[in-house]
Amino acid sequence: MRPPRESAKLGLSNAKPFPMRLLIPRPAWLAALLLLAACATTQTPPPEGASADALLLVSIDGLRADQIGSGAMPTVDALARQGVQAAAMIPSFPTLTFPSHYTLVTGLRPDRHGIVHNNFADPALGVFMSKRDSARDGRFWGGEPIWSTAEKAGIPTATMFWPGSEAEIAGQRPRHWRRYDGSLSPAQRVQQVLAWLDLPQAERPRLLTLYFDQFDVAAHAKGTFSPESMAALRAIDYALAQLLQGLDARGLRQHTNLLLVSDHGMADVRRENVSFLDDRLPAVDYAVSWHGQIAGVTPQPGAAARVEKALLGRHERYACWRKAELPARWHYGSNPRIPPIVCQADTGWRVQLRSHPVPPLLKGEHGYVPEDPQMHGVFIASGPAFATPRRIPAFDIVDLYPLLARLLGVTPQPNDGNPDTLLPLLDASEGPAR
Ligand code: AMP
Ligand code: ZN
Ligand code: ZN
Repeated sequence: MRPPRESAKLGLSNAKPFPMRLLIPRPAWLAALLLLAACATTQTPPPEGASADALLLVSIDGLRADQIGSGAMPTVDALARQGVQAAAMIPSFPTLTFPSHYTLVTGLRPDRHGIVHNNFADPALGVFMSKRDSARDGRFWGGEPIWSTAEKAGIPTATMFWPGSEAEIAGQRPRHWRRYDGSLSPAQRVQQVLAWLDLPQAERPRLLTLYFDQFDVAAHAKGTFSPESMAALRAIDYALAQLLQGLDARGLRQHTNLLLVSDHGMADVRRENVSFLDDRLPAVDYAVSWHGQIAGVTPQPGAAARVEKALLGRHERYACWRKAELPARWHYGSNPRIPPIVCQADTGWRVQLRSHPVPPLLKGEHGYVPEDPQMHGVFIASGPAFATPRRIPAFDIVDLYPLLARLLGVTPQPNDGNPDTLLPLLDASEGPAR
């Protein structure tokens, strides 16, 4: 049995006041109780304005907005029906896993937080960051992720995977975290989250992340609606049902706000749909750092004019811009980690060099423009702060962060999000149903 909400706020979960109280004279047990409360409170000072509710941020990588309500995920569909569901969450540019996930937890656009792609070179540091290894190097990660802010406020946090969670950022790490291991099943990830929730009060996280990549992996290889992708969604959905049961069994369901999001959507592609930059200009004059939905081009010294003449502008299946001239709505192009020329492929296509391999199994992709509805992600909110079922319009991914900060009761760091998008939801759920 978990402690009731008020005693959890006081940090009294391990105290056993009642039987003791009968044996000890009143002033003594009162003093002991106050002392115990004071000690426990020092360990986990509740931040100002914070509610004691836990916040669980769940990401299903690549889940497309229109997959909610399709019946593929009955647990997720039920959460959407009973809570708040957005028509879509519009990803930042580029619509890739690392930039988007780090935007979710900072409220900063990739141009500002510095994770400008899944893999990139940092000219100042002279090093390359890849989502595989150097993701553990804190120097790449700008801004302050919500778990660092929470830890500074004395709120224990735990990350069951999340880009950025393996690095020390802003002098902090999540209290509990795991090295990324894609082989961990959805059920195993949920078991870890529940195990963290079983920790003693002082260590028990109040902000948790939970990340699922099984759908993304299957959809890339086999297609968005392939049997393999549907099986991945079923496995994730079943694990989420176990999570909800686990919360119920611990008496935590009514004290946990659950936000279910995705970083971007997914589009079906044909492997042979590739445009080659070197069909316009041989690659001796430039280097290409990103291949795929977005290509990054760096002209060789002295070759800039030639390269720009050949590549800038609209082509049959892609378009290229100088980084400073990218469409303003993408808020992208000022970061030194972005190559001088950026090419964006049309949905369904790749843009790259002929020498670059195309993945052998390729049926699904993202990385296309955020305006494309196929790239739109998911937002569902459920829990005590979202008691009134509501449908809200599509919103920009940067607007999630002010809600995270408010739900935790921490002061938001400077960010690109608009607090007016989601914070009114909280007023609505506290007031009469609309
Ligand atoms: P992408 O589809 O290329 O944008 O990247 C998604 C893939 O990144 C997932 O399918 C995982 O294999 C991998 N990935 C996700 N999170 C992490 C992480 N924290 N560390 C390393 N790799 C990750
Ligand atoms: Zn992703
Ligand atoms: Zn992916």
